[in-house]
Amino acid sequence: MEDLLKCNFCGKNKNEITFLISGINGHICNYCIEKIYSIVQKKFLIKKNNNKFIKIQKPKEIKFFLDKYVVGQNEAKKIISVAVYNHYKRIQEQHKHKNENIEIEKSNVLLIGETGTGKTLLAKSISNFLKVPFTIADATTLTEAGYVGEDVESILTKLLQSVNYDIESAEKGIVFLDEIDKISRKSNNPSITRDVSGEGVQQALLKILEGSVINVPPQGGRKHPDQKMIQINTENILFIAGGTFDGIEKIISDRIEQMSIGFITKNKKNYEKDYMKNLLAKDLKKFGLIPEIIGRFPIITYLNPLNKNMLKKILVEPKNALIKQYKKLFDMDNISLNITDEALDVIVDKTFELGLGARGLRMFCEKIFLDYIFDIENIQPILNIDQNIVKQKLFYS
Ligand code: ADP
Repeated sequence: MEDLLKCNFCGKNKNEITFLISGINGHICNYCIEKIYSIVQKKFLIKKNNNKFIKIQKPKEIKFFLDKYVVGQNEAKKIISVAVYNHYKRIQEQHKHKNENIEIEKSNVLLIGETGTGKTLLAKSISNFLKVPFTIADATTLTEAGYVGEDVESILTKLLQSVNYDIESAEKGIVFLDEIDKISRKSNNPSITRDVSGEGVQQALLKILEGSVINVPPQGGRKHPDQKMIQINTENILFIAGGTFDGIEKIISDRIEQMSIGFITKNKKNYEKDYMKNLLAKDLKKFGLIPEIIGRFPIITYLNPLNKNMLKKILVEPKNALIKQYKKLFDMDNISLNITDEALDVIVDKTFELGLGARGLRMFCEKIFLDYIFDIENIQPILNIDQNIVKQKLFYS
């Protein structure tokens, strides 16, 4: 009798399968369970994906959101809001206008600005706003295929992993490509010798940036022939690249011949900002980006260096400002933290001197609050931090 048992779905006998599960009126084998599971999963995924409709807001609303997190940088926020609006609108409208000749191109964005001025923050905030997958890739770790380092496809592996291999989601994500300036060509002339970490990487990046179907190794690392690949279409992935482009002002100023040297030196600080306004693709080419890469970033904007006023605002104003975070941390231990305006000024001055943009703020705050948090059980319910305490912590310890 046992031998006659078979799967009521595929008809296989018990000896042809690994196991059978009995129901009230029949049996099902392990193969049919697997098949049915994948059908259910696909159906479920389709349903889930239907919900993945990105609600695209108008540029002003995007900027309004960014204002809550990013201090200053109005021009960059405005430009990025429009770029993102166009990008996601293009995705949504794609299927409607399939037969029309006008194709709206992808709006990858290039952000130029000193370190710690909010480039990563801008890109991350946009992805939070749109609730789309986000990943940060460091261009300096990339090398041309076949050399020591990471293949450019690893960028997409990271994006995929961030959404647990949900391909459809990843294909609408945002990649922040940091330090793009560090893969510039070593000299302005196309070299004969190989430049594996510069031009070679730029060439390799091209196919990802322009929008094509890429074979991505699911676990990252080097591709090898027998590894199963996942195909990702990068057509709708928004790439935001960032870089400091040290020395680009000089390239621009050299180009702007009409300015007399004396005039420039006298008003150097003001004009450095203005130089960036005059940035042209050829300046980036001179810096060492290949023209094809420049072409993949139709939108270029720059972030201003942070002045003391902006640094102070960053400390207290954004939704998750550092001081707000510390207040909350202490509050969780029933301690009310008060920090005077003068104390904030000392932190700002030190940060400004350091020259790492807003990055220094966290470092100094950690230094100030470390001992208090370490000794949290002995802190009085009200903790007052004035400039003397800050000076003590930052100058003498
Ligand atoms: P980068 O320009 O080097 O990418 P980040 O965006 O990573 O700089 O900023 C470094 C730190 O400073 C982050 O903690 C970020 O929140 C903060 N920060 C930098 N610029 C701003 C800004 N304009 N507004 C608010 N916070 C900022």
